[in-house]
Amino acid sequence: MTFATLGLIEPLLRALETLGYQTPTPVQTQAIPAVLAGRDLMAAAQTGTGKTAGFAVPLLQLLAMEGPKVTSNSVRALILVPTRELAEQVHESVRQYAEHLPLSTYAVYGGVSINPQMMKLRKGVDLLVATPGRLLDLFRQNALKFNQLQTLVLDEADRMLDLGFSEELANIYKALPKKRQTLLFSATFSDAIRELAGQMLNDPLSIEVSPRNVAANTVKQWVVTVDKKRKAELFIHLLRKNRWKQVLVFAKTRNGVDQLVEKLQGLSVNADGIHGDKPQATRQRALDRFKASEVQILVATDVAARGLDIEDLPLVVNFDLPIVAEDYIHRIGRTGRAGATGEAISLVCADEVNQLSAIEMLTRQTLTRHMEQDFEPEHRVPDTDASGQVVKKPKKPKKPKVSGGGKRNLGKWVESGDASAPEPSIKPVRKVPVFNTGPRKRKP
Ligand code: AMP
Repeated sequence: MTFATLGLIEPLLRALETLGYQTPTPVQTQAIPAVLAGRDLMAAAQTGTGKTAGFAVPLLQLLAMEGPKVTSNSVRALILVPTRELAEQVHESVRQYAEHLPLSTYAVYGGVSINPQMMKLRKGVDLLVATPGRLLDLFRQNALKFNQLQTLVLDEADRMLDLGFSEELANIYKALPKKRQTLLFSATFSDAIRELAGQMLNDPLSIEVSPRNVAANTVKQWVVTVDKKRKAELFIHLLRKNRWKQVLVFAKTRNGVDQLVEKLQGLSVNADGIHGDKPQATRQRALDRFKASEVQILVATDVAARGLDIEDLPLVVNFDLPIVAEDYIHRIGRTGRAGATGEAISLVCADEVNQLSAIEMLTRQTLTRHMEQDFEPEHRVPDTDASGQVVKKPKKPKKPKVSGGGKRNLGKWVESGDASAPEPSIKPVRKVPVFNTGPRKRKP
């Protein structure tokens, strides 16, 4: 199978060749002809499968071959994504694919001034990548019209709902022309996503390129059990012992990111962090430097790092396990991309056992456990397996209290860092109806 046999035109073939894409990935093989034929799509494709080209390339072909010229303040195709980083990344891919086509493309997102975006939209844009909040702001300020819109793409739809964008999506949906092509991509398929698909798609073709909710099998995954208070020490030990070159590290909270980065920088390790509290420009700069291998360790929360494509990333470390099991799949999807092999290591402490169990159940595998010498946990992580069972050993009888021995509470963690809440936007909102009217959790 080649891209030419999928019916792509020469300017696109040339761009793909320049990028070194020789053979279409499975999602591209299925999506490209369907999009060219004008079908709606509902695609279960995790990040790293080549899904961006799967929708963007045929979309660009349709824009180049069909439809009238774009008029002022209009868009002909819209790609909605959950985060600013993803908007930049998807737009960068689109720009590369469209290199030899006479089409205009642009990305809009929050956290930066709206005025330059309004100016840019005046002439109209053939293909716009946008986060939902900023798109609505632009629409409400009459900087955007949807009367020419022919295609809508919802990329990482599950994440958009997780981030609380259901209300924005409902409002955008109301403003769009009824007659249009809609493509929905999601790594995971909850009931809320199916409901969204039911409302937005018309007789969609279903594409599933990897088994539902199963992590990429090109990623070697294992767990190191450790006491919570020794995680940073263990991370630094593993970093040095294994001479890790480039690592993306996930921490649960913004505080957790800052603390680890500070510790690493204190040891002259070249580290930086990204999370929702940092200004957009700082986040993007840290990311760009990491991509350019100018930063060795990038510590991130789930929100900041979702969907990012970093070439040849060999290793992801879960410093903390995610609260939502599906995020584990997204996190480890940063490595082992487009067929390359990768490694994902999770540092797991006793009070993360339920998260570990949920991940094993979701990925239908029991993760291999290791214990690092001199880091054996005092607080044992109970056994887990893919059935969701957590095997708790009977509690040891309490030792008699020794007077003056302090207040150590065995079996329960008492740590100063615990007060910091996880980044709010990674809390699940899976049970809410798709078009609920509740408050939005955060802007991307
Ligand atoms: P995505 O899942 O869209 O984020 O893509 C993951 C990575 O695979 C990106 O770096 C793409 O540039 C790359 N990629 C996508 N399609 C192909 C292909 N057919 N051949 C080689 N690399 C590809």
